[in-house]
Amino acid sequence: MSQAMDKVLNVDVCVIGAGSGGLSVAAGASQMGAKVALVEKADMGGDCLNTGCVPSKALLAAAHAAQSMRDAGFFGVQSQVPEVDWKQVYDHVHGVIAAIAPNDSQQRFEAMGVIVIRAAGRFEDERTLRAGDRLIRAKYFVLATGSSAFVPPIDGLQDVDYFTNENIFDNSEAIEHLIVIGGGPIGMEMAQAHLRLGAKVTVVEMGRLLMKDDPELTKVVIDRLASEGMNFYEGGRDLRIEKVADGKITVRCQIDAGERCAVGSHLLIATGRRANVNGLNLDAAGVVYSPKGVEVDARLRSSNRRVFAIGDVAGPYQFTHMAAYQAGVIIRNVLFKLPAKVDYSAVPWVTYTDPELAHVGMSEADAIKAGKEVRVLRWKFEDNDRAQAERRTEGMVKVITTPKGLILGASIVGLHAGELIQPWILAVSQKLKIGAVASMIAPYPTLAEVNKRIAGSFYTQKLFSNTTRWIVRFLMRF
Ligand SMILES: Cc1cc2nc3c(=O)[nH]c(=O)nc-3n(C[C@H](O)[C@H](O)[C@H](O)COP(=O)(O)OP(=O)(O)OC[C@H]3O[C@@H](n4cnc5c(N)ncnc54)[C@H](O)[C@@H]3O)c2cc1C
Repeated sequence: MSQAMDKVLNVDVCVIGAGSGGLSVAAGASQMGAKVALVEKADMGGDCLNTGCVPSKALLAAAHAAQSMRDAGFFGVQSQVPEVDWKQVYDHVHGVIAAIAPNDSQQRFEAMGVIVIRAAGRFEDERTLRAGDRLIRAKYFVLATGSSAFVPPIDGLQDVDYFTNENIFDNSEAIEHLIVIGGGPIGMEMAQAHLRLGAKVTVVEMGRLLMKDDPELTKVVIDRLASEGMNFYEGGRDLRIEKVADGKITVRCQIDAGERCAVGSHLLIATGRRANVNGLNLDAAGVVYSPKGVEVDARLRSSNRRVFAIGDVAGPYQFTHMAAYQAGVIIRNVLFKLPAKVDYSAVPWVTYTDPELAHVGMSEADAIKAGKEVRVLRWKFEDNDRAQAERRTEGMVKVITTPKGLILGASIVGLHAGELIQPWILAVSQKLKIGAVASMIAPYPTLAEVNKRIAGSFYTQKLFSNTTRWIVRFLMRF
């Protein structure tokens, strides 16, 4: 062992992983005056910046630009079949990553006083981590090592080339027919992006498409994607993959009694995520974990009280905003010594297909499962004047309240649903009643009026007949 290797770095907090969660903890802790080491084995910024949220949304933005050319005819503007230069599209994606990267960079964190070590971290014992030629002893460790694409054992997969989120954004060649295995948010976003950019797309899903969301709302997304030409094999079993003569890939599956077969030029595996627990020597640190991730309590502490875990490696929600939320909980525990606990009652998420799909809090199915007596409110985008003007009338809001109007949850499908869900996140987290949203003045004509209208329907549904409701709705416009 060299002398340099023996040199021990003593810090207050050692964060392993410089992604959404790790960066938030490192920035927060160093700004509070703690001595912080940040260990990262690959690119600063983690999945979200390099292979997740940012490139996927940039690719979708390009795809939506292409679609608006096709849809221009609705407005009396000559519609066109877009000509897509795939290389330039992917250059745009990398340009967006480059524009955001300085926020997550080593230089920025070093300027904050964080000691950034670019190496893989591995525990030596309960208080010591090795990273390259450094040994780090810390009062607290924060595991923020994220997750990786889970690749299931599908017959024949080993014989073909395939994309995951880790390499698809490095592609620069035209894709003729993309077969996406996995119809969750990542699979569906990538499927629509490539479809709108001109590829043929088939999605093969073993269960239900967009399984974590309300089927009443996911239907709106699926119908739209189908109308744009996407092909779905939902409930596909016994998947088999084969390479065929001209470099094409065949994916076969069973649905009910029949066999389905798609022949594509490229394959994307989007079948979920696997927590990054390997290689950390967690056993040496006395940290209990499983393939699902590090086991943590409500304070995000692992079985080793000095070791916390955050983000995708801890779960239960694998979103950037959840990693950032958990970072706040860890800062309060570690630096302020407060027994702060996570509260998952108002967790929002958005699937960035077009139309978008957004949710917070309790769904109708959750309420039924919990045996709660609830009111379920529904409001369609077709009743919104702005949606009519934009010719985007597909969509709806669904809100779950108690019989007395306490807001328990909301889901929205439609144009900009990810923006429209924001007041409901506030409402659920602050335990507001429906009257708070109903009494708000919403600017006319905005899509966000759907929120006021659905809240108002809580009272009109109770008081009036259908006809009178229509009159009230009309009067509410003024
Ligand atoms: C295609 C895609 C799209 C997504 N879109 C969205 C979205 O729109 N909105 C959203 O909220 N979420 C989205 N997500 C999820 C989001 O990216 C993750 O939830 C988020 O990145 C998790 O942050 P994290 O800090 O836990 O992990 P990461 O951001 O992945 O960071 C983990 C870091 O730890 C490093 N690391 C791992 N092991 C070690 C080790 N032993 N030593 C040192 N370093 C190590 C890794 O190299 C990595 O940089 C998307 C994910 C994907 C794949």
